[in-house]
Amino acid sequence: MLSSDYHNHPQGHRDLPYTQEVLQPWADYAKAANLKDVALTDHGRYHPGINLDEFFRFRDKIKDTRFKLGIEIDNDPETSVADYKWIEDNYDKLDFVLGSVHFIDDWPFDHPQHKDRYSEWDIDKLYVRYFEEMKKLINKGYLDGLAHLDLIKIFGHRPKTEITSFVKDVMKLIKEKGLTIEMSTAGWRKPINEQYPQGEIIQIIKDMEIPITTASDAHTAKDLGHSYDRLCEVLKKYGFKNAAVFDNHKMKLLPI
Ligand SMILES: [Zn+2]
Ligand SMILES: [Zn+2]
Repeated sequence: MLSSDYHNHPQGHRDLPYTQEVLQPWADYAKAANLKDVALTDHGRYHPGINLDEFFRFRDKIKDTRFKLGIEIDNDPETSVADYKWIEDNYDKLDFVLGSVHFIDDWPFDHPQHKDRYSEWDIDKLYVRYFEEMKKLINKGYLDGLAHLDLIKIFGHRPKTEITSFVKDVMKLIKEKGLTIEMSTAGWRKPINEQYPQGEIIQIIKDMEIPITTASDAHTAKDLGHSYDRLCEVLKKYGFKNAAVFDNHKMKLLPI
């Protein structure tokens, strides 16, 4: 059974200030989904709304689930400087920093309104560029794990060349830095209709013994632990025995 969810957005898609009313549904749904350890990882660009005192008050009163304070940092060309500054200032209070590539230059490629821009690219070149961005993000530091590793496939654009050739270098870097990779159910709710990452990448992760986190990328509390039975089957098929959770950036493995 999967008991941790390490990618969640109580703010949804906007800078919503943390209050007990905003956070409480996450405790209620986490309990209903039998989750024991949940990291809130709102987007870096909405950090003004992440009120640490409100979060700690919430965390200390919830008994059924251990809540952790995280953040999803990305390569947003407009906000990432300020977002990294916030992480630096608050690093000791955070449990988990999740890294994501959401942009190719100024293009938010996973946004449905901008999906036409895939036609401007040779897809293999786009995949190369995407994983280059990921390496840059990793080398900036602060990260504990990587989110939705093959997000670039979101609208169904697959490379012509084997995916394994695109991820080799980034996998080495992830291993070298001791980071985790997220196994996410969110892809099943997107046009690609496949978990992140795809099977060939999962196999590499297993072979290289890179630790994993499990995640729904919920933007609404009721999606906590979404499709976890299905994800559990996938992970068992590849032979995974545990998933990582974090306390102040310190990793611990829970059996699945
Ligand atoms: Zn993301
Ligand atoms: Zn996210």
